[in-house]
Amino acid sequence: MSKIRERMAMAARSSNLASREHVVMPVDCLGAMGIASRRHAIGIMAVRLKYANDASVHADMAEQLRRMIKKPLPQSLGRAIALQAMREFLMQQCKSCAGRGYKAAPNGVKHPCQSCRGSVIKRYSDTERLQSIGISLASVRTQEVIRQVDYLVGIIQAEEKFAVMRAQKCLVD
Ligand SMILES: [Zn+2]
Repeated sequence: MSKIRERMAMAARSSNLASREHVVMPVDCLGAMGIASRRHAIGIMAVRLKYANDASVHADMAEQLRRMIKKPLPQSLGRAIALQAMREFLMQQCKSCAGRGYKAAPNGVKHPCQSCRGSVIKRYSDTERLQSIGISLASVRTQEVIRQVDYLVGIIQAEEKFAVMRAQKCLVD
């Protein structure tokens, strides 16, 4: 986790709102997150959820993401898609190599992980996604569902970056 994300997570968990001059305190960081949240509400919720384990934003984030789906899908399906996108954002690490990017043979030689090809990012297969969402592989909607998951994962990732950048800028200015 980057330093700014660590700070934001700490601030989100903090109950100490004391402020001091010339020192960035949790209260300053929370203020910066508040400002960033005006434009990047989803991004700030993503930070709170992922780094501060703040489950209180979970339902709200899922609902906001669901509303961003442009295709007319049943509400329950939209919600399942939003939840899957959040799950993928929260668990980005390749399980096969535990996020190392390689696997060590008994003789100590390291081989790039075949699951993630060394990227350490977990790739969710279509089957895995559809099963997790609870939609039949035979459904006529499978491709549409996959597209929407990709779309929402992209939104969360971009929003998280923008929100962090915005908060950091507020702290520096
Ligand atoms: Zn891997």
